[in-house]
Amino acid sequence: MKTRVVVLGAGFGGLELTTMLSEALGDTLDIALIDKADAFVFGYSKLDVMFGRQLPAAVQHPYSRIVKPGVRFLKSTVRSFDPAAKRVVTDHGTLEADVLIVALGADLDLAATPGLIEGGNEFYSVPGAFALRDVLPRFERGPAIVGVTGKSFKCPPAPSETALLLHDYLVARGRRAATDITVVMPFGTPIPPSPDTSQAILAAFAERGITFVKDNLVAALVPERKVAVLSDGRELPYALFLGVPVHRVPQVVIESGLATHPFDWVPVNKQTLETKFPGVYAVGDVNGVGTPKAGVFAEGSARVVAEAIIARLRGGAAPEAYKGQGSCYVEFGHDLVGRVDVDFLSGPKPTGTFQPPSPALVAEKVVFGSSRVGRWFGG
Ligand SMILES: Cc1cc2nc3c(=O)[nH]c(=O)nc-3n(C[C@H](O)[C@H](O)[C@H](O)COP(=O)(O)OP(=O)(O)OC[C@H]3O[C@@H](n4cnc5c(N)ncnc54)[C@H](O)[C@@H]3O)c2cc1C
Repeated sequence: MKTRVVVLGAGFGGLELTTMLSEALGDTLDIALIDKADAFVFGYSKLDVMFGRQLPAAVQHPYSRIVKPGVRFLKSTVRSFDPAAKRVVTDHGTLEADVLIVALGADLDLAATPGLIEGGNEFYSVPGAFALRDVLPRFERGPAIVGVTGKSFKCPPAPSETALLLHDYLVARGRRAATDITVVMPFGTPIPPSPDTSQAILAAFAERGITFVKDNLVAALVPERKVAVLSDGRELPYALFLGVPVHRVPQVVIESGLATHPFDWVPVNKQTLETKFPGVYAVGDVNGVGTPKAGVFAEGSARVVAEAIIARLRGGAAPEAYKGQGSCYVEFGHDLVGRVDVDFLSGPKPTGTFQPPSPALVAEKVVFGSSRVGRWFGG
């Protein structure tokens, strides 16, 4: 009997884990990779599409291209799963697993912020970011706010990157002098674990006249008056609102018993990513391991779990504990990219090392994406 591995979610975490298992064990496994979407989109590609740097079709990587030994992709929605029985119910039937990986990411809850759906835009979902491609050309004058609405959100640099790219976009269209840009974030600095990165971003904001409002969330929009209400009670007028919606644990995960409420990111063993159910792992944004919600961390956690499964099936030594390390590329505008290498779990507190923006890092980011597309979707 082949070992049955069922992977819920084909994002950064699910794709990396599936690829590693297939490369190491191939047809000796029966891996079912399940996702409700047709295609994978890198988070950063959302910014490329909204600012007109890429066409939507160019950044969508169809799952139908996945042809790997031992792997079958199932396009379906996971309706429920039982981690004790390792049984998964999808729109296309029920699957039984020997090893179950939960890699369903974080859900976005637009309705949690009053006024956001009626009076604002969001750039975190694929449809939201793609729709902005047609909204931004109509923004001619007035205040733009890039606003975070919840404390825990994917890719902490993304709001700052968005403000810097919006600046360039408006300059290119000759509209910058008629507009203001404000970033509202729940942190004291843009990237708290890396003071050097934060300082560089704040310097770039100052140079470009972008206002940084720290330690605040956007609690609500009042579309009739075109104001954003901040968590400290202040009101900021806006003509364009680009929001980061509230992130929450997917409901199907709560109903499985792996989490107790929408902000109870799945508790796991920090070293192995295993949940309280043996043989059931939570990788990526859905888990509560304490690293930021970012693709590189989803990938890193998936690698540790894949190594553990490979070691178990081949009889080798268990892998090293998860270290919570990752490198994030940061768009600085002016066609330059910086990089921050962060380490969340090795030491007593998170640390980050900054590499200033350069053309070399632009090229490195391209390779980061293309190498993954090659491994995950190639033959
Ligand atoms: C604007 C933006 C920029 C970003 N930039 C970067 C960056 O530069 N670097 C970086 O490392 N990270 C970046 N990120 C973050 C990154 O995209 C996420 O952290 C990463 O994708 C998380 O991986 P994951 O595997 O945990 O979840 P995801 O990649 O979100 O995958 C979860 C998958 O589960 C599927 N799913 C969910 N529910 C169900 C269900 N019930 N049934 C079936 N399928 C389901 C979804 O369709 C999805 O494909 C960015 C994010 C955004 C929004």
